[in-house]
Amino acid sequence: SKYTKEDILRIAEEEDVEFIRLQFTDIFGTMKNMAVTISHLERALNNEYIFDGSSIDGFASIEQSDMFLYPDRDTFEIFPWRPQQGKVARLICDVYSPDGTPCDNDPRYVLRKAVKQAADMGYKLNVGPECEFFMFHTDEAGLPTTMSHEQGGYFDLGPLDLGENARRDMIFTLEDMGFDIEASHHEMAPAQHEIDFRYDEALKTADNIMTFKLVVKTIAKRHGLHATFMPKPKTDNHGSGMHLNMSLSRDGKNIFEDADDVNGLSQEGYYFIGGIMQHIKAITCIVNPSVNSYKRFVKGFEAPVYITWSAKNRSPLIRVPASAGDGTRIELRSPDTSANPYLAIAVCLAAGLKGIQEKIAPPASVDCNVFEMTKEEKKALDIEALPGSLLEAVREFEKDDFVRSILGEELSHKIIEAQKNEYKEFRSQVSQWELDRYLFRM
Ligand code: GLN
Ligand code: MG
Ligand code: MG
Ligand code: MG
Repeated sequence: SKYTKEDILRIAEEEDVEFIRLQFTDIFGTMKNMAVTISHLERALNNEYIFDGSSIDGFASIEQSDMFLYPDRDTFEIFPWRPQQGKVARLICDVYSPDGTPCDNDPRYVLRKAVKQAADMGYKLNVGPECEFFMFHTDEAGLPTTMSHEQGGYFDLGPLDLGENARRDMIFTLEDMGFDIEASHHEMAPAQHEIDFRYDEALKTADNIMTFKLVVKTIAKRHGLHATFMPKPKTDNHGSGMHLNMSLSRDGKNIFEDADDVNGLSQEGYYFIGGIMQHIKAITCIVNPSVNSYKRFVKGFEAPVYITWSAKNRSPLIRVPASAGDGTRIELRSPDTSANPYLAIAVCLAAGLKGIQEKIAPPASVDCNVFEMTKEEKKALDIEALPGSLLEAVREFEKDDFVRSILGEELSHKIIEAQKNEYKEFRSQVSQWELDRYLFRM
């Protein structure tokens, strides 16, 4: 690893770090942490810190609730937005059981296993996410609203783009934390933004997504705004996606590249698409894990609805971007930012690898506008839709032995239970739409 234990103790001392946050992510993708003071940093680095796993959703059972935090030294980073005397730093941790084995339900471990499987095949997955989010005003009590005074649209700039200053601050903060920000822009909807950071290997990218969300929310708050990664906060506007750009490399060479192919994509690249497409319905339960995720899968807002791929069309499930050479990749466009990034990347990677192992050829590409096709035309081409609700997606996940095996039986079971309960609760809610529609008429 990048740092030894001694390095971290020394840097923390030199940098006047006072608190260290030991972070991890629960199964629903929520960041959790425990703070320790500098005098206990050595103990933390010796993997001696315990937390009550039964109090964190999905981690442990009551019978065996003590869980250990093993800090990943490579993730040591100082928070630039905290006081610069008595600084605050963080370490992202792996979760271990008392017997010294990794906790099967730790999302980071699930991704580590998929990464290991890829490594055993000689591959490394690179992932570049495109995280979209909204910035809304808060009310007098400081609570988030869905209001914004801004009217900016795609690629607009100030004075139309009222989030410009907040976005710039976010970028500086992320750069201070080692991010390489490649691009940022106003998105389609008023108050919607996108910041793209450079791709990295799978585990690093998942960690980066968690850090990114924390930074975006923290800095937005400093500007009196509320940043949200909710997939579809506004009915009549675009939702926020987390497109995942993926490529495999072997010995540092991008193996998705093939200059002789019409789309510049290698056979492995096509098989990777094939594997993901074969399992996408169950994968959807993981990459679109909230009830709200499914409000995004509707026509007219650039989100995918049908299970297709294309190198030309911009709104299929999987796109093969035009960039050639080392930038050759596939872009999965269904994931949203409510997903747990570790689990999301793990299922995509494992399904893609299965595609390569079993030589799963993807169906023919669909390069026209699927929304303009008739039902019969879609049927003739075998074009199916993504699951239309969380319940549908959970049922697909339940049926898919392969995708469940990536998470393991216990974690899968917990996710199935939780998502079914979530859906049940949602189903019983009387919404404003229903009141507007029926109160007068019925
Ligand atoms: N916001 C769109 C989505 O929901 C994507 C828009 C874009 O980046 N072109 O995925
Ligand atoms: Mg983009
Ligand atoms: Mg975008
Ligand atoms: Mg994109």
